[in-house]
Amino acid sequence: MSNLTENQTKTAEILTVVTVEQKPEKKKRKLTPYLIAAGVVLCLGTVAAVVALLLPRQVEEQAPVTEEAVSTRVDYGLPEWMTAAFLTEDGESRTGEKMEEVLDIAVHYVANPGTSAMANRNYFEGPDSNTSSHFIVGLEGEVLALIPTDEKSCATNERNSDTVSVEVCHPDETGVFADATYESLIRLLTYLCTEFDLTEENLIRHYDVTGKMCPLYYVEHPDAWDALKSDVKEALAKGMPDDTKA
Ligand SMILES: [Zn+2]
Repeated sequence: MSNLTENQTKTAEILTVVTVEQKPEKKKRKLTPYLIAAGVVLCLGTVAAVVALLLPRQVEEQAPVTEEAVSTRVDYGLPEWMTAAFLTEDGESRTGEKMEEVLDIAVHYVANPGTSAMANRNYFEGPDSNTSSHFIVGLEGEVLALIPTDEKSCATNERNSDTVSVEVCHPDETGVFADATYESLIRLLTYLCTEFDLTEENLIRHYDVTGKMCPLYYVEHPDAWDALKSDVKEALAKGMPDDTKA
């Protein structure tokens, strides 16, 4: 009986040890569904966060084609392919000062790769900016009118009083314009040359005024700038299509 009892005790001890050793394993097994659930929650959370980040961006990238924007565009005689998104007259980005005359058209790049026309327009509108441009051409080729062309913009330093300024968005740091952007830019420049009785010779870069590397790609690649001017010349020779007239 004594031996049996000892054996039973040993067995009980072994069982206890086994039980103790097995406990963590059992815990691990029980934890697995929770880990999976936590993983799923994390994944869903990440997806929700990404969607939340993307949504305002999508909204931001959409030009505000409200009834007011349309009637403003019509009031100012702007063509249908433009969106009126005029800045508030704040004495800084939009001073309200009248232009003396329009002698040239100055092309700029936004120097902020991948940003939309609307995002840049909203930056001009915000309290941290005292700069602006008359027009901005976006990554999808959208054209926003920010300041009426009889008012000065704050873009081209000493030439603000006699140039119309055009800011251009670009996908990367080289500053080269995307195809859709380029196409719209040529249309806008052709339209402006027609409006102010100018030619491609009146197209200037911010660089030509101050030596600033703007628009970067077209300063670093003078041949690309010459090609752009040639494209406007060609478009001017063809004349503006009826559907692009105001
Ligand atoms: Zn510039």
